[in-house]
Amino acid sequence: MAEAVGYDDTPFLPDSKWRVHDGNRPQPRLVTPGASDAAPPSDASVQFDGTDLSMWTGRDGEAQWKVENGYMEVTRTGDIETRDHFGDCQVHLEWAAPSEVKGNSQGRGNSGVFLMGLYEIQVLDGYDNRTYADGITASIYGEYPPLVNACRKPGEWQTYDIIFEAPSWDEEGHLVKAAYLTVIHNGVVVHHRQKAIGPTGHRNVANYDTPHAPTGPLKLQDHGDLVRYRNVWIRPLTNYDEA
Ligand code: MG
Repeated sequence: MAEAVGYDDTPFLPDSKWRVHDGNRPQPRLVTPGASDAAPPSDASVQFDGTDLSMWTGRDGEAQWKVENGYMEVTRTGDIETRDHFGDCQVHLEWAAPSEVKGNSQGRGNSGVFLMGLYEIQVLDGYDNRTYADGITASIYGEYPPLVNACRKPGEWQTYDIIFEAPSWDEEGHLVKAAYLTVIHNGVVVHHRQKAIGPTGHRNVANYDTPHAPTGPLKLQDHGDLVRYRNVWIRPLTNYDEA
């Protein structure tokens, strides 16, 4: 029996069965963090550890991207997506645009990270590369530019840490909750719980008119540019309300 902690004579917290400093309130679940903040913690679902694409599917079944030296690279064989599906989640991944700069605007180092396969955080070589603001690196594509441009130079590894809240609809198909995205690019906050207008589109205004499943895959875009990814892991975010 653990030694008693806290108080049992303090006022109740608002809308809660727990008192301030309640000694009986359940302890947080234990997670062993990674050796660095980029390494997967103990409860992460590792989707790519640098060795193979067994966790992914591609256009014709197996994912056909190249795997070498601990990273995967676009091979112009189509988008790939995780076999596992996720709703609310935390995503960590690292990517690099080609070190040889080719093309401009949307034609330079273009790829993308699609939450639920539907909500794109743009991947682009946005270093000294002018394009439309809602399509620059780390934009919520076609909706919101990042708060700042925190791009590293082409060829350098960059990080995305994403916190995604899935949308939901009621039984009549009315939106109950929109999707929300928080994105940290190379350690810099670029979206702070931004409400998405809807699933990503191109040259149209997104909307939530068509309900979709409560979970979906993480999809990486093959836009024809030889973008690399490594160290992809996801933590499903469960309901933290104590029973
Ligand atoms: Mg893209």
